Amino acid sequence: MNWGEEAQARLSRIAACSTTAEGVSRLPFSGEHAAALDHIRGWMVRAGLTPEMTASGTLVGRSAKGEGPTLILGSHQDSVPHGGRYDGIMGVLLPCLALEKMQLDGRQPAVPVEVVAFADEEGVRFPTALIGARALAGTLDPAALDLTDADGISIAEAMAGFGGSPDQLSTLQRRPEDVLGFVEVHIEQGPVLETEGLALGTVTGICGIERNAIVFTGETGHAGTMPMAGRKDALVAAADFISGINRLAKEQGEVRATVGTLSLAPGAVNAIPKRVELVLELRAVDDAQRLSMHDAARALAGQSSAAMGCGLSFERTYSQTAVLCDPRLQARVANAVSATQGGTGFDLPSGATHDASAMSDLCPVAMMFVRCRGGVSHRPDEFVTDADMALAVDALDHLLAGF
Ligand SMILES: [Zn+2]
Repeated sequence: MNWGEEAQARLSRIAACSTTAEGVSRLPFSGEHAAALDHIRGWMVRAGLTPEMTASGTLVGRSAKGEGPTLILGSHQDSVPHGGRYDGIMGVLLPCLALEKMQLDGRQPAVPVEVVAFADEEGVRFPTALIGARALAGTLDPAALDLTDADGISIAEAMAGFGGSPDQLSTLQRRPEDVLGFVEVHIEQGPVLETEGLALGTVTGICGIERNAIVFTGETGHAGTMPMAGRKDALVAAADFISGINRLAKEQGEVRATVGTLSLAPGAVNAIPKRVELVLELRAVDDAQRLSMHDAARALAGQSSAAMGCGLSFERTYSQTAVLCDPRLQARVANAVSATQGGTGFDLPSGATHDASAMSDLCPVAMMFVRCRGGVSHRPDEFVTDADMALAVDALDHLLAGF
């Protein structure tokens, strides 16, 4: 069996469970989700697992083998609108293929194994994310079940309509002593492995994230009659800040700083901007480095506004701490990656949030990244080669056999 070709073929078939012909658009608790689960049940059965639908809509495949704590592998089945065919779902398929391969070879994982397909990770349908992993970890806020989608359907209603039991969610929570850890395989969604010329990498941690709402306030005036000297141009202050924080983050090297939204008023071609609102997002796998960049950004915004005679408001509106992978589980993944790549391992942080972030509240977590073409993800042209997926299957085989 060519496991890379097999992976590609199965991902191509399940990609058809989508509301759009271009790319994959699969929301949780939808008809496309139900159709996808039919595929995943088949994968699990061929892997020697017994699939079971849980109260939260997570499909769990359990191995018959033995007592003792379980190693959980898996990822999410949902996609962003017009997403790719690898994000999430590849992390459900590849562990199934590794188990199927071991079974065909007459071998078994050294520990009890489960593969999970979480209903929701992306947080596209409802204004929350990571529903499945949070239910397992026991950190899903019951109030979140009342959150509604664009059609006014609540999570509880969608889950119940899908055959789940929103009132039973508390029974899903695992006991930490029953779980060895959670290993998630995921498309890298960035260009680092491709640049390194490597198929696989070991994740060191998942970046902490903070968002800061920043407002520069100046004075508007006629673009023709106001001399350049003495203007209080809020956009010039904001521009100075944006290029400054970009320079600081480049120099620092580990923190990602992005201004992704900006609005200005009055927004007329012949008026000096009097007010600019923007959001600065900072991400780093080291919380201390992120907090230090936050302080630097605050100081810089102060300088940029003062230089233009503008007022400033700077407020942190969101903050999520980094999740470090478990050193022992990470070392096991790193060994498997290195053994599969002829002795070459590679460690990298994850700039994106994953199911492993939520699972870290329950158990040790680790992640393996698989190279993607051009660093492209959340797009229809997201692509992973057969050969890279075959290597990932080998690495999982190595990991499971050696546990
Ligand atoms: Zn994902």
